[in-house]
Amino acid sequence: MVDLKGQYEGIKETVNTSIQEVLDTNAYINGPYVKDFQNALESYLGVKHVIPCANGTDALQIAMMGLDLQPGDEVITADFTFAATVEVIALLKLTPVLVDVAPDTFNIDPKAIEKAITSKTKAIVPVHLFGQAANMEAILEIAKKHNLYVIEDNAQGIGGNYTFKNGEKKKTGNLGHIASTSFFPSKNLGCYGDGGAIFTNDDALAHTIRGIVNHGMYERYHHDVVGVNSRLDSIQAAVLLAKLPKLDSYNNARRNAARKYNTAFAGIDAINTPVTHTSCTGICDSCDCHVFHQYTLKVTGVDRDALVQHLNKHNIPCGVYYPIPLHSQKAYVDDRYNEADFPVTNQLVKEVISLPMHTELDDEQIDFITKTVIEFVTK
Ligand SMILES: *Cc1c(COP(=O)(O)O)cnc(C)c1O
Repeated sequence: MVDLKGQYEGIKETVNTSIQEVLDTNAYINGPYVKDFQNALESYLGVKHVIPCANGTDALQIAMMGLDLQPGDEVITADFTFAATVEVIALLKLTPVLVDVAPDTFNIDPKAIEKAITSKTKAIVPVHLFGQAANMEAILEIAKKHNLYVIEDNAQGIGGNYTFKNGEKKKTGNLGHIASTSFFPSKNLGCYGDGGAIFTNDDALAHTIRGIVNHGMYERYHHDVVGVNSRLDSIQAAVLLAKLPKLDSYNNARRNAARKYNTAFAGIDAINTPVTHTSCTGICDSCDCHVFHQYTLKVTGVDRDALVQHLNKHNIPCGVYYPIPLHSQKAYVDDRYNEADFPVTNQLVKEVISLPMHTELDDEQIDFITKTVIEFVTK
């Protein structure tokens, strides 16, 4: 699904030099690379504060701790996402409220959010799923109207842009009150281990969070709040600092691959190619609203699981993200849910299939993959 070795070959010297420098200076924790990466990411995103931490799941949890959400507070998020999003809500004894997504973008449906709001609702967590920004303009309006926090889960969307109706353009992760991301190796900006970060423009919130990630300390050995231990280590920061200048070209390589897939699949009835919705329609060379963390098709009138087997037989990796709606997962079942409230997610879990998507895909590979898919769906 990804080719981390091929990508590494292109940046080997810079990365090796940086890692060697960490080894030479022995500054493994909170070394200068961590601060340098933090600063570089702040200017790339145009966000005031980046707080690095250990992984994307921690980042989400810490964001919710920073906002001082309390047990029983309701947090609305998408039924169709990776489990980390709902997991941290439940872990903090907040009440997850899962809602349906839009059938074209797979992103949380603003109408479903509005329907789910109660007097206990405190926050909305939109996920920029598969690399495309959620409908943030609508979500921010709802949040303003009901006085709710917006916590962006930007683990899959880093480097993407969102254009508002008035033409204003901002990076994802810089749209809500606070955002989280992951630097897991296969993410669009990945390190060589675990890593994550929290973003915010709020000075007071950033200060609170810098203490939370460090055992609740604002002054050495004074523990003012219950915190956690969540750090980005220097080796990972060095890798990320070497890779950040490449992020735009990496995301462009993903978009190019997506465009080639789309062209090859055009006119095949059984295949619905990804729809991009935020700042443009269709995928063009200059389109910057989708960073294609995944390239996900919807197949109709075809046995999706048989297609997975067919691809596996031809040694083509593929993935089903996600095969089970979160509201049906044992850990998250809740009497409040009604199957009729999740028509889209219940359908998507049967139809989606993600094809290989990374920075090193070449024409020959895309050709082989698309031919193998088409051969199956048209037979
Ligand atoms: C990867 C991911 C996370 C978690 O990131 P980790 O670094 O693996 O903890 C959270 N949310 C979404 C949507 C993700 O894709």
